[in-house]
Amino acid sequence: MENERKKYDLLIKNGHVIDPANNVDAQGSVAVRDGAIAGVFVGDAAAPAAGEAAIVMDAGGNYITPGLIDIHSHVYPLLPRPSAGTLLALEAETTMLRSGVTTTVDAGTAGWRDFIDFKERVIDESIIRILAYVNVASKGMVEMASEQDPSQLHPEITAEVAKQYADVVVGIKAAHYWVGKPFDEIHTPWASADAGLRAAELCGMPLMIDFQPNYGPPERTYEDLILKKLRPGDIHTHVFAKQFPIIGDDGKVLPHMWEARKRGVYFDVGHGAGSFWFRNGQRALDDGFYPDTLSTDMHVASVRFAALDQLLLMSKFMCMGMTINDVVSRSANEPAKLIRRPELGNLSVGGCADIAILRVLKGEFGYVDCGYAKITGDNKLDCMATIRGGKVVYDANGLSLPFWRDAPAPYWQMPYLPPT
Ligand SMILES: [Zn+2]
Repeated sequence: MENERKKYDLLIKNGHVIDPANNVDAQGSVAVRDGAIAGVFVGDAAAPAAGEAAIVMDAGGNYITPGLIDIHSHVYPLLPRPSAGTLLALEAETTMLRSGVTTTVDAGTAGWRDFIDFKERVIDESIIRILAYVNVASKGMVEMASEQDPSQLHPEITAEVAKQYADVVVGIKAAHYWVGKPFDEIHTPWASADAGLRAAELCGMPLMIDFQPNYGPPERTYEDLILKKLRPGDIHTHVFAKQFPIIGDDGKVLPHMWEARKRGVYFDVGHGAGSFWFRNGQRALDDGFYPDTLSTDMHVASVRFAALDQLLLMSKFMCMGMTINDVVSRSANEPAKLIRRPELGNLSVGGCADIAILRVLKGEFGYVDCGYAKITGDNKLDCMATIRGGKVVYDANGLSLPFWRDAPAPYWQMPYLPPT
C-alpha cells in the first residue's frame, strides 16, 4: 500500500490564488498531477486532504499565481565568445526561476542566421520555456551592425524560419534601426519597420518593434508608427522610454496613444537599462493608461541595474499604483494573449502546471528608473517557490520539504560507510 500512487503529485494549499484569466482572486489550493493543473479549490470547494498528495506545500500567507511570463528578454548569447554567452543564458535562467518566471520570450537576439544554434543550444536545453521573436536582420543582435544595414533585412527568409519553428517562434522583431543619424538613399526612414511588417505578414505572426522617432525632415514619427504602420496585434515595446511623446503639456496621455490602443496596437514595457522613465510611466498610469504587458528586457546590462527581474518590475508598478491583480495579469494571461499562446499564463484545469508562489514583503523600498530617478514604497514582491511543468524548480524556503526531524529514512542514513 505504501507505494501506491497518491491522487495528486503536488498540492499547494492554503494560499491566496490569483488567476486573472479565470477571474479567481480568493483563498484556496491548487493540485497538480502529471505536470498539469488537476484542480483549483477556492470558495466552497473543499481542498483535498494533505494525505492525497505526494508533496504538500503550505502557501499560507502567500499568493499562488500562474507562472509568470516575461515577453521581452535576451537569453541568446549577445557576445561572440561562447563561454561568456553561456554564462549569460544561465544567469538569466537563474534570475528568472528565482522570480517566478516560467516562460520568457527572447526579443530578437537571433536573426535567421543564428536561430537554429539558439534553438539547439539554449531553447532546447532550458528549464524555463523559451519562445522567441526572430529578428528581421540576418544577424540579429549577435552582430548589431546587421540591424543598420537594409541589405541584411530579409523578410522572406525570416518568415520561413518563423514558420518552420512555429512551435517556439511567436513573432518577428525589428529594432535599433538608424537612431539619430541622417537618412539617405540606402537608409530610408522605415526600412526596418517595413521589413519587419512584411515578415510578420508573410508568417502570419505579430511584429514587436523597438523604435526611435525622428521629427526632423524626412520625418519618422511615433504617431505614424502606432496609427498607420502597426497592425492590430502588433507590439510597441519600450513604451515608457524617454524618446516617445506619451504625455502632453497638460500632463495627460496624448490622444494618439488612446487611438492606437483602440486600433488594437499593444504597448509593452520592455524596461531594460535605458527604456523606462517615471515621467512617462507614472503620468500614464495616473491618467489610466496601463501598459498591456510588463517585461524586463533583461540583458547583460539591465540584469544588474533597474530591471533586475520580473518581480522587481511588478513591485515597481504596484508602488506606482497598480494592484497585485493588475501586475500579475500583465505578467501572465495578458502576455499569453499577445504571444497568442492562450494556454499559458493561467491555472486552468488540464493546463501545464507552471506556478509561482509569491509573497509581499513590507518595509521601505526604493525603485529606480533609467533616468537615474526613483520612487519609494512599502511593498516588495518576493518569490517563495517556482513550479515548472509540475516540478518544483525553485524552493529556497523549503515549502515542499519536511522539517528535518520528520525527514524520511534515507535522510538518516550515513552514506559511504564501509560494510561491517
Ligand atoms: Zn530588448
